[in-house]
Amino acid sequence: MSLVDTFGRVHDSLRISVTDRCNIRCFYCMPEEGAQFQPRAEILSFEEIERVVRVAVGQGVDKLRLTGGEPLVRRDLPILIARLAAIQGVRDLALTTNAVLLARDAHALHDAGLRRLNIHLDTLDRARFHQMTRRDDLPRVLDGIAAARALKFSIKLNAVAVRGLSEPDILPIARFCRDNDIEARFIEFMPLDAQNLWDRSKVLSADEILGEISTNISPLRAIPDSDPRAPATEYRYSDTGARVGVIASVTKPFCLNCNRLRLTSDGKVRYCLFAVEETDIKPLLRNGGSDIDIAGALRLTTAKKWLGHQIDSSRFVPPPRPMYSIGG
Ligand code: SAM
Ligand code: SF4
Repeated sequence: MSLVDTFGRVHDSLRISVTDRCNIRCFYCMPEEGAQFQPRAEILSFEEIERVVRVAVGQGVDKLRLTGGEPLVRRDLPILIARLAAIQGVRDLALTTNAVLLARDAHALHDAGLRRLNIHLDTLDRARFHQMTRRDDLPRVLDGIAAARALKFSIKLNAVAVRGLSEPDILPIARFCRDNDIEARFIEFMPLDAQNLWDRSKVLSADEILGEISTNISPLRAIPDSDPRAPATEYRYSDTGARVGVIASVTKPFCLNCNRLRLTSDGKVRYCLFAVEETDIKPLLRNGGSDIDIAGALRLTTAKKWLGHQIDSSRFVPPPRPMYSIGG
């Protein structure tokens, strides 16, 4: 069984949002005040998430990523990780986090079987971190990264690049990663912010970022055999061979190779971050739906998938939910 859309794309990757809550307030994701969260009763339980994953694995999914909101604010997350890691057929399990609580949780996550982390950090400058996230938590994030490195997690560092703001951060972030055995991943600013601040002129393009790094640190060469279905395009420094990736969602969309479905924390299945429609599977989970019904909902969502999001065209319509509520 596999989840194949009408364009022949096979969907073997599921991103699971475990909460829409967050402990910081990145300006390109959440409003400073008054974020609207789902009532707790609407959030899927660990049992419900595990059930959806088991059904999805039966449909060919073998790659899971937990996200949010901030997944580490979900109580007892390591218990969920251990349950998902134990499912036969799960080949890859990763977590995306802002790392504010990672020093507290790194050991428990490792004990639960997690080995891969994507840590989100846009700047090493404390004042700019505070400005961008409306919280003064850079030291905690750095402690979290140190704790994860000590446990030998495989780490990628996600940095969102916004024109007019992030230019001074590109080289320090790239150097920090290069020096600490971490793959830097620069992400183009996408129209998913809660306050509609995005416009095309604020996108600092992947090409500009790569050019800056190549000129000032060491020339970068594309890795020819990097996975075409992964969102990041990967490069290597010509001197050390260390990797750098870019996620050029706006200037070079990778929709044609997309293999991802998403499950929101309130039980909606989505075929795209930018989808304007979604399939609610909570009624199936809570009102006696069978596994066959859940598999049917996954297949239906996949079958409806569009060719691509067209962010860079005048036809683009932003999704009705901001990033934190969908799950990035
Ligand atoms: N809280 C966790 C974190 O920040 O990593 C997980 C959820 S967050 C929504 C996932 C990723 O989405 C982060 O790497 C974040 O930088 C990215 N992100 C959020 N809003 C974005 C936007 N408007 N454009 C591009 N990336 C964005
Ligand atoms: Fe929170 Fe992540 Fe959104 Fe930042 S990007 S506000 S850390 S959910």
